[in-house]
Amino acid sequence: MAEYIKHEHDVLVIGAGGAGLRAAVEASAAGVKVAVITKSLLGKAHTVMAEGGIAAALANVDDRDSWRVHFADTMRGGQYLNNWRMAELHAKEAPECVRELEAWGALFDRTPDGRILQRNFGGHRYPRLAHVGDRTGLEMIRTLQDHGIHLGLDVFMEYTVVTLLKDGDRVVGAFGYDRERGRFHLFQAKAVVLATGGIGRAYKITSNSWEYTGDGLALAYEAGAGLQDMEFVQFHPTGMIWPPSVCGLLVTEGVRGDGGVLRNKEGRRFMFDSIPPLYASQTADNEEEGWRYTQGDKNARRPPELLTRDHVARCIRREVREGRGSPHGGVFLDIAWIKQRIRNAPEHIKRKLPSMYHQFKQLADIDITQEAMEVGPTTHYMMGGVSVDPGSQMSDVPGLFASGECGAGLHGANRLGGNSLSDLLVFGKRAGQYAAAYAKENSLGNINPSDVERAEKQALVFFERDGAEGPYAVQNALQDMMQDLVGIVRQEKEMLQALDRIQELKARAQRVGVSGNREYNPGWHTAIDLSSLLTVSEMVTKAALERKESRGAHFRDDYPNKDAKFGACNIAIRKGAAGEMQITRVPIPEMPPELKQIIEEMK
Ligand SMILES: Cc1cc2nc3c(=O)[nH]c(=O)nc-3n(C[C@H](O)[C@H](O)[C@H](O)COP(=O)(O)OP(=O)(O)OC[C@H]3O[C@@H](n4cnc5c(N)ncnc54)[C@H](O)[C@@H]3O)c2cc1C
Repeated sequence: MAEYIKHEHDVLVIGAGGAGLRAAVEASAAGVKVAVITKSLLGKAHTVMAEGGIAAALANVDDRDSWRVHFADTMRGGQYLNNWRMAELHAKEAPECVRELEAWGALFDRTPDGRILQRNFGGHRYPRLAHVGDRTGLEMIRTLQDHGIHLGLDVFMEYTVVTLLKDGDRVVGAFGYDRERGRFHLFQAKAVVLATGGIGRAYKITSNSWEYTGDGLALAYEAGAGLQDMEFVQFHPTGMIWPPSVCGLLVTEGVRGDGGVLRNKEGRRFMFDSIPPLYASQTADNEEEGWRYTQGDKNARRPPELLTRDHVARCIRREVREGRGSPHGGVFLDIAWIKQRIRNAPEHIKRKLPSMYHQFKQLADIDITQEAMEVGPTTHYMMGGVSVDPGSQMSDVPGLFASGECGAGLHGANRLGGNSLSDLLVFGKRAGQYAAAYAKENSLGNINPSDVERAEKQALVFFERDGAEGPYAVQNALQDMMQDLVGIVRQEKEMLQALDRIQELKARAQRVGVSGNREYNPGWHTAIDLSSLLTVSEMVTKAALERKESRGAHFRDDYPNKDAKFGACNIAIRKGAAGEMQITRVPIPEMPPELKQIIEEMK
């Protein structure tokens, strides 16, 4: 007989990042009883690390901006694989969501006339990112958290969900453990919102913290939900590469938005060497024009350093491979050079990029106001995830909703910087609203005791194998393998090898053992996380094998060009009746003429 503590709520939100908190706030405001679960402490979710800002067409800095331009930019960035309805809702609703955040107490940087300041970012035609220095995520989390606590959310900190529970087709709860005591908990709920973030920890070099093991995606998959776009893993072009202990840590795109330039070891601004045709008309072709753009000249086009992340990351990789890299295998990102252009440049840099200044000073002993930084690509964001209805955010499993990074659709083949924080607000809000409505229409379902017993047994099995191989060796082997074989540039031979390796690692994970007891036992938690990491790694690899072309964040050496037939479909994944991972191509629905027209006009 399983031993656990039972909790009952109308809506259960798994994840306390921006998406989870925004969903919880909305559901709570609708008058239902809401619980939020987070693997770490409240306020520590990934969202807190977000630096550059929230993309929303407020048009405060450039009055030519509008939801139509934002929509067109998002679709172009996603190489037209985006769910166009989500891109439309997102562009239309993001400004109101930012104002709402401000009304709840978020203190944004200001224009001289007191409006919310907006900065330049890659792929956005006009300055569009509402920000708070380079600590925007912190302000967003702080605001949502304060607001949510006042609304009376029940928060379960340092709790991890290991399985979703179903009554027939419908999701009716979740089962997990608390880190402090290792006790089990059963959360019964009428609706469940997944807001568990990304999968960065499947790779060796990543900007993501320890929590991002793809749990939500694996939970949804096991519950029978459909997923999509898993081949699209974003490698952010600028992560720290030195010293090794901080390798992967993000260097915000805000550095480039504020005038930072990329150079190879010969001092050349190599980004001018390859401007993709899709962006040629919008990109500066000389350094002078690029600089003027970063300083707000409306007649200038953006510098090539602000091209989309996938492209910039591949250009950096090319420079390194062809022997023009920096001493530690990256390239140079230089913001110190702006002292040639503006007075008091060091103070200006410290004011605009305080976290970057401290990050490099403290971790690498580099003063970014005087010296260039060494940077290279780092695994950053998962465009793929749970397939959802664009309006309600419900997955194809009744009662199961998903939003934020663990949901899919908005970003297509590549996310524009800043479009994640706005995604969390727009679709977190919608998920909360529709989950609350669903909860009002449905009663609590039945929990099958044998499902709970099975989940408990599975979680405890590792203690029976004290002395066996530990989980960290398997986790490290998986991360190395994904980095080498399913990274920025892919090819069939290597990905087939990756699939074999994943099967071997799955077998090793089945034999892993841990010692000690259930209180604060990170080895035990890592052993449990392995299953999600392996599942999402297999999804990424299989989807990447299926997409036999190069598009957005997915680049294949063996198919280096786009292929029109893949431009018309998403790659979908689902667990088959016999437990096999099914991969299918799903045609993208025809875009309505009025949206097509916007895209044509903005070309
Ligand atoms: C360094 C950095 C800078 C960034 N800067 C920007 C930026 O400027 N602009 C922008 O738009 N985007 C930015 N991003 C991306 C953006 O921050 C993330 O995509 C976004 O915050 C994800 O939010 P989320 O709510 O979906 O999930 P998260 O904030 O990742 O939260 C996930 C939550 O789920 C919980 N969880 C996970 N698994 C479980 C489980 N099994 N049981 C219980 N709880 C679980 C976690 O504990 C956490 O509370 C940045 C990312 C990084 C890493």
